[in-house]
Amino acid sequence: MTARDGRAVLGSALLALLVGAAPRLPAGYTLVPGRFEPGRQPDGNSVIIEAPEGLIVVDTGRHRAHTGRVLAAARATGKPVAAVINTHWHLDHVSGNPSVRQAFPRARVYASGAIDGALTGFLARGAEAARAALAGGELDAVTAEEVRGDLATVEAGDRLKPDVRVVRSGRVRLAGRAIELRLARDAATAGDLWLYDPGTRTAIVGDLVTLPVPFFDTACPAGWRRALNDIAATPFRTLIPGHGPAMSRATFAAYARGFEDLVACAASPAPAETCAAAWTETARAVDPANDDARARRMAAYYVSEVLRRPGGANCAA
Ligand SMILES: [Zn+2]
Repeated sequence: MTARDGRAVLGSALLALLVGAAPRLPAGYTLVPGRFEPGRQPDGNSVIIEAPEGLIVVDTGRHRAHTGRVLAAARATGKPVAAVINTHWHLDHVSGNPSVRQAFPRARVYASGAIDGALTGFLARGAEAARAALAGGELDAVTAEEVRGDLATVEAGDRLKPDVRVVRSGRVRLAGRAIELRLARDAATAGDLWLYDPGTRTAIVGDLVTLPVPFFDTACPAGWRRALNDIAATPFRTLIPGHGPAMSRATFAAYARGFEDLVACAASPAPAETCAAAWTETARAVDPANDDARARRMAAYYVSEVLRRPGGANCAA
């Protein structure tokens, strides 16, 4: 081992010690963790918050099984879902909207308007590619099942859209509970919503914080960095990311530093593998159960195929 490797290992161990275990969630909060099974597409985390006049559900997942767990957890409280908040339009966060609406017809869905552009742009192109791939008949059974599921979701895309389009940050009352809704433009998507619950000092931030790696497919890195700074400026004690376990402030700080480093590395002449290795150290410190191989593979992909690709950044002109 060289001195440099030694420092890296020691740094990682110290970082892991500093960030510590995942914090406990406040009373009245239920986290339905998103899963990311081999060969399948991920589900994002869903959060259920009990409020005086019903439940607030943040994100509804992609697969039926995930949305089923959300509905079971909601029913177990004995309260109806009053509000659904979609942090962003990625299919691992909104696909369950129609099922939740069906189970709780009075629920109102809140989101930014970014899904409108996505349904005629990114998601429409994805659907076209999906139809071609299915017609080609070369997908394995599991992949074909995933592709068919997402295609059906996009083909009924109007049912994913919000009842209330959030156009600015501000404090709202949802189901009788005061919540701050923050709109981040041009971050992980063209319009990301995140929540700050001042009563419990909890931030729910969707894919602005995401493991095993920040998903840059539809992102503007500069806007995303601004959003991370806004989160850091909030006096949260507990943060629930879009994927991965709940975090303390120290864990979030380690994530945000890793994010900065990854974007800076992508803008440097360093090999993508070097950037990916450094990110993997961060991911492991933030979540000791992180899948290192997957983090490394995905980070290398995002550096070489998205961040370094001309036009790879989705920033408004
Ligand atoms: Zn996600």
